[in-house]
Amino acid sequence: MKWATVQDHIGRQDYGIIIEHGKAFLSLPELARRMKRTEHFPETLLEAMQLGDQLLELAKNLVEEGKRTGIIDEIKVPLEKRQLLAPIPRTRKNIFCVGKNYREHVKEMGPSDPIPEHVMIFTKPPTSIIGTDAAIPLHANVTDALDYEGELAIVIGKKGKEIPPEESLDYVFGYTILNDISARDLQKQHKQFFLGKSLDGSCPLGPWIVDKTEITDPHALRIETRVNGELRQNGHTSEMIFSIPEIIATLSRGMTLEPGDIIATGTPAGVGKGFNPPKYLQSGDIIEITIEKIGTLRNTVQ
Ligand code: MG
Repeated sequence: MKWATVQDHIGRQDYGIIIEHGKAFLSLPELARRMKRTEHFPETLLEAMQLGDQLLELAKNLVEEGKRTGIIDEIKVPLEKRQLLAPIPRTRKNIFCVGKNYREHVKEMGPSDPIPEHVMIFTKPPTSIIGTDAAIPLHANVTDALDYEGELAIVIGKKGKEIPPEESLDYVFGYTILNDISARDLQKQHKQFFLGKSLDGSCPLGPWIVDKTEITDPHALRIETRVNGELRQNGHTSEMIFSIPEIIATLSRGMTLEPGDIIATGTPAGVGKGFNPPKYLQSGDIIEITIEKIGTLRNTVQ
């Protein structure tokens, strides 16, 4: 199922699933209310995710019952009547990001840069998150080297520590798309990546989360980034240096992962900095990141 957080025309937030091939939205709290099952459905997707795998089962049963009774047809809404927000508009902690996780990308960032021997981790703050179709601020007063990075992001669905690689996918709720917008000049100037990766609006996320029942192999997905229609990144998640099980095992070694935590898995080659001269983002640029089985995350630079 595709899990989304949306907003209506007066700013009320809701969450649920996207049905009818992306054309309609079904509110899960509303469906639960109509079936008198309110005790099971919290008010936000992040809270609902605290139910762990139970949530997937619960939603599946509700939807089946809703179809049978015809309630879904009564309460579904055309998606164009709702604005998609980031599926988790405000994470509880920073977003974890893996750096330099595709060989060709390591080379384009610096021809003599070594391939990392250990997973490289930095973070982005919750204030950087925006949804699909939201504008990415250009931040011309602080940077003139704003860049894009299309990435597959993991959403954790179960609390865990010391997670063995072979069990790691049991801890995943699903997958989404993340644009790791980076101010290259700040990234370089301040040594640590944090500031250059953390400007407001520098973490487009969405358009929704596809749960793990639909993506059984996260290393079998094509990932493409287009800027104004031009194909810039054309990668495949099988090309990661550190696999998702290795990433989850490494992060959870001594640090608890919790439902709703997000981990961006790194970007393939083709970022703006990799071109000569670099192709940094300009006002009006449209960035579209498409990942197989998930969809397209689309944002315009303000
Ligand atoms: Mg990145």
